[in-house]
Amino acid sequence: MKPIHYSIVPKNPAAHIFEVTLTVAEPDPAGQVFSLPVWIPGSYMVREFARNIVTLSAHGETARRVAIDKTDKQTWRAAPCKGALTLVYEVYAWDLSVRTAHLDDNVGFFNGTSVFLSVAGQEAAPCQVELRKPEGAVYKDWRVATALTEARGTRRYAFGQYRAANYDELIDHPVTLGHFALGQFRAHGASHDVVISGRVPKLDMERLTRDLKPICEAQIALFEPKSKRAPFERYVFMTMAVTDGYGGLEHRASTALICNRADLPVLGQATASEGYRTYLGLCSHEYFHTWNVKRIKPASFAPYDLTRENYSELLWLFEGFTSYYDDLILVRSGLIDTPEYFRLLGKTVGGVSRGAGRFKQSVAQSSFDAWIKYYRQDENAPNAIVSYYTKGSLVALAFDLTIRAQTRNRKSLDDVMRLLWQRYGRDFYQGKGRGIREDEVEALLAEATGADLGKLFAQAVHGTRDLPLADLLAPFGVTISPDAGGSTPGLGARIRGGAECTLASVHDHSAAQKAGLSAGDVLIALDGLRVTGSNLDSLLSRYRAGDRVEIHAFHRDELRSFTVKLDPADVTRYVLSRDDARGSAKKWGDAWLQG
Ligand SMILES: [Zn+2]
Repeated sequence: MKPIHYSIVPKNPAAHIFEVTLTVAEPDPAGQVFSLPVWIPGSYMVREFARNIVTLSAHGETARRVAIDKTDKQTWRAAPCKGALTLVYEVYAWDLSVRTAHLDDNVGFFNGTSVFLSVAGQEAAPCQVELRKPEGAVYKDWRVATALTEARGTRRYAFGQYRAANYDELIDHPVTLGHFALGQFRAHGASHDVVISGRVPKLDMERLTRDLKPICEAQIALFEPKSKRAPFERYVFMTMAVTDGYGGLEHRASTALICNRADLPVLGQATASEGYRTYLGLCSHEYFHTWNVKRIKPASFAPYDLTRENYSELLWLFEGFTSYYDDLILVRSGLIDTPEYFRLLGKTVGGVSRGAGRFKQSVAQSSFDAWIKYYRQDENAPNAIVSYYTKGSLVALAFDLTIRAQTRNRKSLDDVMRLLWQRYGRDFYQGKGRGIREDEVEALLAEATGADLGKLFAQAVHGTRDLPLADLLAPFGVTISPDAGGSTPGLGARIRGGAECTLASVHDHSAAQKAGLSAGDVLIALDGLRVTGSNLDSLLSRYRAGDRVEIHAFHRDELRSFTVKLDPADVTRYVLSRDDARGSAKKWGDAWLQG
């Protein structure tokens, strides 16, 4: 198949417009069909990227116009034509997120899913991509960061020709253009780039690369303990630093991240801020996906159908297990200590135990409905859904501890990850690329470990009861107990920050719900004292659980009065400790936490 040619240029950064030219050497004689994905792998929501295509025209070999019509929201069909067919279209890029595309006069970023139309019937054809520098002296020093392969003649970080083996690969390598800070390191021989765009004064890049290296090496060694071979030749961490933002998206040889610039390390500061640890956890998370979801995949993602939702009951494995390992790798590689790891784990347990939705939805159901529930949360989400990330990470913990206890620490969840890797992941892009089916997972867990996990599987994956974490942690000498963090009673509602005290959500069976308060209500006064967005806790601290208070609130635009019988303090976190661990419990715990 002849290659498809794409050319993209930041045509008008001030107007946030990329121009893309796409040439098909051998278009379908019956009329070539083109389409843009409606979702981006890794973010399970239909986003209809075609809404940002502003203009589009088709041309034949002699630059003669060829008629082209839309046939649905994401699809175009050109009239039959002889010879090569070229499309020219403009894409509006003004979304500062890792999922779409962004362009201004300082930096450009795009995912292929936002800018590159697929050519129906030629998805397997090789792709050649020309990244063109915008015109004008201000863009003179712009550079390119991407894990796309440079074509011969193009220097690394330069504008020019790049290539991908097929459309699937083309859209799995996001591209950053513009000014950025660049760091480099090697992990078990594989080269890694760290790209930070957005202005970050006194960025300590050396520290960042020094801290990322052990995270990467621990993960490479987890999956390939003997060869220590990374599944790529080169990996790119690309981060957009902003005032306020957080998130990441995984790709096969790179990740796009967004974070607060305050979270990045500052030259001359030796201590790690909470924000920096969170950022390292995010890097660890997305990097783990290089194996778990970019190569080991659910069957329904192999291949992806980019025209509609792709349902999988397994996101608890792909996101939950990844969430379990992201922080565990930090403690195993020495970036955080055990008390810090336990603090993070205790926060996760507290977070999961706050929502009554966990009694209504299993992690398998949460995975399947991610498209309409987890990714589209409303005020009722805490009462209706459970997170396949946070509860999924506790499911991973439960499996890990059970396997270790049953096998007297000879096997662990690491063995499960390795078998998944060997059977489904290692040759994914070389071979036929089969994903794992829902009904194959339980048998694989047993095969990898020899442990009897049937009951736990039913309870943890398909059930809605709380996991018996205290029992599971005991053989490792670890205790766990709830901590309300004080005696201040509560309403059982979440407050949205700001000048006003607005209820973001009201929990099932809570004091607020029983009193008739609803999400969206604006609290005005408590027993006659003014309530603001920041003083509710301090007002409540003078009362005890069971006390009755009068709350005045706007319910829509109606001022109403509510009598609220206060709830006990919310359990926001759990406290874990292994201070008294001795003997085999100590040994097993060390093996779990040290890898
Ligand atoms: Zn993830």
